[in-house]
Amino acid sequence: MHDHERAARQSLIDHCRAMNASGLSLHKSGNASLRWGTGLLITPTGRAYDRLLPEDIVYLEADGTCPPGQLIPSSEWRFHVDIMNAFPDVNAVVHVHSTHATALACLGEGIPAFHYMVAVAGGDHIPCAEYATFGTAALSDNVLRALDGGLRACLMANHGQVATGKTLADAYALAEEVENLARQYLLARSLGPTRNLPPEEMALVLEKFKYYGQQRTPERG
Ligand SMILES: [Zn+2]
Repeated sequence: MHDHERAARQSLIDHCRAMNASGLSLHKSGNASLRWGTGLLITPTGRAYDRLLPEDIVYLEADGTCPPGQLIPSSEWRFHVDIMNAFPDVNAVVHVHSTHATALACLGEGIPAFHYMVAVAGGDHIPCAEYATFGTAALSDNVLRALDGGLRACLMANHGQVATGKTLADAYALAEEVENLARQYLLARSLGPTRNLPPEEMALVLEKFKYYGQQRTPERG
């Protein structure tokens, strides 16, 4: 194994350990993947993250084929593979059952434009994918449908949330942001109905977010 592949595998392990340490995910319920070559690297199923070694990370081909001699990939490998194939600009996927996002998803609800930061996921709300049994192609189809139109994150009914990014750090940060927004939304809802921002204001915010964290090219003339 080359050093750069070992480093990529170790970064998956490090992010999964961070999920547990930060409370974003309990035990082995979260998983993560990283585009690698023509396929992807993904966490294995059933292994505690604090005992994972780089060689335990599983490589999957783009069609989901698992070359032999590896551990069994995460039971949610399908939507990781399908998201990478559907969105060429996505290089990493993080899936967690974070408490507040999952609580909202158990009502079958997404996160509306109660706060302008909802635009961080790329739209004027964060939708909730329809429920289907974990690990199934039907669940993967539902997640892809929710992300349709270039959204970078969604909740998953009666399950959790999924966040994507150009890098693993981006996807991880977005999963944390979605969890934080869900927590704020549930708290606000417990006080009364939220005053959601109108679509035209969210369109303005989304326009500003196109340059969020980027160096805007100076205009000439
Ligand atoms: Zn799950």
